[in-house]
Amino acid sequence: MDRLNGSARLMIVSDLDLTMVDHDDQENISLLRFNALWESCYRDDSLLVFSTGRSPTIYKQLRKEKPLLTPDITIMSVGTEIAYGESMVRDDGWEKYLNYKWDRGVVLEETSKFHELVPQSETEQRPHKVSFFIEKSKASAVMKALSEHLEKRGLDVKIIFSSGTALDVLPKGAGKGQALAYLLKKFRIDGKMPVNTLVCGDSGNDAELLGVPEVYGVMVSNAQEELLQWYEENANNNPNIIHATERCAAGIIQAIGYFGLGPNVPPRDIRDFQTCKVDIFSPGHQVVKFYLFYERWRRAEVEISEFYMQNLRLVFDCMEISKESKYRVWVDRVSSAQIGSDVWLVKFDKWELSVYSLQVNEEWGFVWSMLLILQCLSGAAMLSNHCFTEFKGHGTGWIHMDAYSSDLAGGFRTRRSNYMDSIVYQLARQDSHLSPPHPQSTSLLP
Ligand SMILES: [Mg+2]
Repeated sequence: MDRLNGSARLMIVSDLDLTMVDHDDQENISLLRFNALWESCYRDDSLLVFSTGRSPTIYKQLRKEKPLLTPDITIMSVGTEIAYGESMVRDDGWEKYLNYKWDRGVVLEETSKFHELVPQSETEQRPHKVSFFIEKSKASAVMKALSEHLEKRGLDVKIIFSSGTALDVLPKGAGKGQALAYLLKKFRIDGKMPVNTLVCGDSGNDAELLGVPEVYGVMVSNAQEELLQWYEENANNNPNIIHATERCAAGIIQAIGYFGLGPNVPPRDIRDFQTCKVDIFSPGHQVVKFYLFYERWRRAEVEISEFYMQNLRLVFDCMEISKESKYRVWVDRVSSAQIGSDVWLVKFDKWELSVYSLQVNEEWGFVWSMLLILQCLSGAAMLSNHCFTEFKGHGTGWIHMDAYSSDLAGGFRTRRSNYMDSIVYQLARQDSHLSPPHPQSTSLLP
């Protein structure tokens, strides 16, 4: 929450299942497009919030299975748990607040009287959330009766039916919308209210997000009937909410453009990087663009002239990297600090899905923690580094890079030099007219 010194330019608050993550998209194309857009254009001055019905256990499982970015804030268990940053520091104040007129034991006692309610797995039962499955046709009657039972026992609860099958009992003050309102209040007190907030959802428990005042909202094209019905009854004339024509993360990208909240062309959509010039120097943009080129080269989707390859072979003898059609790479947590007039220290995580990583595990490849020094170079400076002797004029150089292999828990295991990335970067480098640095691209490193 304190990563930014001032107000976020954009705060995206998104549900995960079938909103950010499309479980029908085995290649995760929409998600990878969103990731590239976020790291390239938003990470340095905006906030990403995931708001999911998942408990911490199955949220962490999803992060192993899908190429999900690291959010700044994670709201889990249908708005009953809030955690901050990569290390997921819990907001104890929020959980204390939820104790008001809540007694989990009483909820268990009363719900056990309804045979229609089938308890969800133990991992989904949380201190302030009791969760069941129920047949859709029986949900309405059970919700009404259960609500009366719990009221008579002195509790103040909220019962949410979602995804046509899930029923959650929460404290009245909980829920995705209440959790977001709580966060916005904290931002307001700190003087860091986001300039714009975009909420994104697909099912019943996301309706509360769309009901928060003064936010933009998107229901992705695949939104479920219960959410569309809520919209018809409650928000039909709200111009700040749209039903996207695109599925999942592609619908979020569409909404960013529709509401004019910032750039919405993912670098992944740009096939010719010569047309992908930016007016301001952005380390995030440079890193994303390079790895997209790298991925296309590994997938044999781009040609590299034999002239360059021959020159590079004279310098390096390690050019025989295997091409593989399924190779993917994406970057996460790009942060940078300007350490000289034209030099940046850049830190990020690089994830790779390759044949080799698939042989080792079924999860989303290997993660490398990267540290590099990036320089916005003029012609003379470029000649000082032999990696760049083939290039004249202005450009960007990676003048030093360290890479650390990291396990999913974040523990460093091995270190390697990353010449190969550096070489391919030369081939990808296309920028030639760079303006002075972005004033907000500093101070994000600890
Ligand atoms: Mg969902």
